[in-house]
Amino acid sequence: MSNTPPAALPDSAASGRFAKQVLGWFALHGRKHLPWQNPRDPYRVWISEIMLQQTQVTTVIDYFNRFVETFPELKSLAEADSDLVMHHWSGLGYYARARNLHRCAQLVMAEHQGNLPEDLESLQSLPGIGRSTAGAIRSLAFGQYASILDGNVKRVLARHYAVEGWPGETAVLKRLWQLSEHLTPQRHCADYNQAMMDLGAMVCVRTKPLCEACPLVQSCVARARGEIDRYPGKKVKSSKPVRSAQLLVVLDDADNILLQKRPPSGIWGGLWSLPECPAEQRGEHWCQVNLGLQVKPLSQMSLRRHTFSHFHLDITPVLLKMEKPLKAVMDENSLVWYNLSQPEDLGLAAPVSTILQQIDPKIPIAENNEGEAR
Ligand code: SF4
Repeated sequence: MSNTPPAALPDSAASGRFAKQVLGWFALHGRKHLPWQNPRDPYRVWISEIMLQQTQVTTVIDYFNRFVETFPELKSLAEADSDLVMHHWSGLGYYARARNLHRCAQLVMAEHQGNLPEDLESLQSLPGIGRSTAGAIRSLAFGQYASILDGNVKRVLARHYAVEGWPGETAVLKRLWQLSEHLTPQRHCADYNQAMMDLGAMVCVRTKPLCEACPLVQSCVARARGEIDRYPGKKVKSSKPVRSAQLLVVLDDADNILLQKRPPSGIWGGLWSLPECPAEQRGEHWCQVNLGLQVKPLSQMSLRRHTFSHFHLDITPVLLKMEKPLKAVMDENSLVWYNLSQPEDLGLAAPVSTILQQIDPKIPIAENNEGEAR
């Protein structure tokens, strides 16, 4: 249980000072030339906000530019093939974001005449848009009043007001939202929200915050107490479980590699992967039963660990050679022979592109950026 502080809020003079200091800092140091800010329209703001949910600005910029070049407007995204959408997301991690983005675009076409709605309730009813993202879209894209609370804003507020407890706990989150709503000014709301996100990303960073450069240094409670590291409170950790699996690298006579599309939900949902065989089964038998393929074993590659938010996956890639396809059992829509010398634009799970790269170094490795947002 966290020791949540009483719900007193700063008085209006203190709140006004807070916003003024943040806005003053923003005028001098805030980020104003990011690609989604120029031009700033609801579609571009929405795409950037979803990409930034778990990923830093420096990583997002290239992905964003490529994404809007291929899908310049919401309609083109709604009508796009899901494989192409996943391909453009490949490497950004947290793939549910891409699936939701695509579904959201289709819903906005069907229910909102192709225009993202302005009000918070309608925005939050769309896939992948939570309370803070809705606030960011409403304020940044439509210039309307709304407060936000992403990871960066949580950190600034938790430190400045010494809010005890892990922000994943309901009571702590509620307290942080109270503060955010109370402090967000009616005027210059978009600049203030952008400033708070920038402040958390650039100054009040997770480790070694640059307090000397912070506009809030005089009033920051955590700093005054010398307890910055205590905020935001950490989740009590339990060690992650370890699961094991084999990824089957099935080669045909021309050394093409068999890829299988993952189901829409679950790990790597909707991405293309090497067929996954339970660790305790033999790959040859699994291929025959599940894919109708007759294969013979070649060799094993070295084990590698891929870490998800809730577990570690120990992967053993197993090389197999196809001897005879039994076509009757093959599902043509979810299987593809991947040509290493002329790779198709497919959304690949990050560890799969690493394995393919080891087989042929010309295959690009997808980064797996699962760090702090912005
Ligand atoms: Fe964060 Fe330091 Fe500013 Fe406090 S003074 S809000 S700890 S950067």
